[in-house]
Amino acid sequence: MALSGILSEFRSSKNSKTRKLKALWQIILNDGPVRADTLSEKANMNAATCARLLDELIRLGLISADELGQSTGGRKPILYSANPDKGRLAGIEISNIYSTIVLQNFRLDVLATCKIKATGQETPQVLLDKLLTRLQTLLEEHNLTTADLAGIGIAADYTLPAGSDRQAVNEYLIPHLKEMAETRTGCPVTIGSGVNFAALAEYRLRHKQSRRLFFTTCDAEIRSSTILSEPIRFMPSGTENAFGHMTLDLRGRACECGAFGCLNQYGSMEAIRNTVVQHLRRGKPSVITTLVSDEREIDYHVIFKAIELADPLCTEALEEAAYYYGQAIAISFSLFSPMSWSAAEHSRQNTRFLPRFRKRWRKNSPDFRKSIHR
Ligand SMILES: [Zn+2]
Repeated sequence: MALSGILSEFRSSKNSKTRKLKALWQIILNDGPVRADTLSEKANMNAATCARLLDELIRLGLISADELGQSTGGRKPILYSANPDKGRLAGIEISNIYSTIVLQNFRLDVLATCKIKATGQETPQVLLDKLLTRLQTLLEEHNLTTADLAGIGIAADYTLPAGSDRQAVNEYLIPHLKEMAETRTGCPVTIGSGVNFAALAEYRLRHKQSRRLFFTTCDAEIRSSTILSEPIRFMPSGTENAFGHMTLDLRGRACECGAFGCLNQYGSMEAIRNTVVQHLRRGKPSVITTLVSDEREIDYHVIFKAIELADPLCTEALEEAAYYYGQAIAISFSLFSPMSWSAAEHSRQNTRFLPRFRKRWRKNSPDFRKSIHR
């Protein structure tokens, strides 16, 4: 049976057997490779029913069984894994800077990716329309159609102009974008905050053993996501931005949130850029003056290029930002005591300067493990 047929049955059928098949497949997708006894326990099924349904999932091509488990004497136990190539997942990030489309299999391996630079003038609707057209082309390039997609995840991280009505965005714009994507593709669409999606992927790929994952990003805005498991729970919606608005200096710089001295004003990419520009205006020497001809051309890429060239001005600006970033992370560690911390790609440069906080992290969260990656 084609994947689209199976999935549409999984979505709509009230049949008890179909629902059990779906539940088992979801556990294997999230936790696989997994043993049959663990599966019957997690799905709350008796061993015979579980074995029958597993055979059915194998027959449908959704999972495979391998004798790979640790033997405790006698026959090696069988491990069940999702068939990574039965179907694809598409992820779309709508952003004012670079929007991204990613095509993945069920093991979350990235099969294809493409970036579209925003002109800065498009509305989120226009941007999404462009991205959906590009997704169709990307699928065609890989001999796929939307029927091969199990679903589309959309990270709506579009920064709206200051003063936009947040409530209207959540109540009208987000559901409208979801409906637009569902109508055009015929696929189920999940729409939400990009930082939560990124944290969930990190959790599934690298931190499954962790009961509390703290994930931070540092691009246009500083955001965080905290995942508690099992079962997986996120902090309430809207809390993703709280980390960036942590007060670090009561008499500090004014923030658009109305408070003073928020982390965003010191540790974000925008803050680093502002510091660099201010120093250049005061006539401080920097290799940047040879990289661009106009102040407006200075962006994160130019600053990181200058840092690679060991430019003291840019390195100092980054180090200062990392100082605040590290302070905020140390405070968060004492609040949440996470078992792991994961930082997204843009934060990697910052982390060069973070080891000085290691002692404090260890004290606040002795068994944590950190990962910084692309
Ligand atoms: Zn603020």
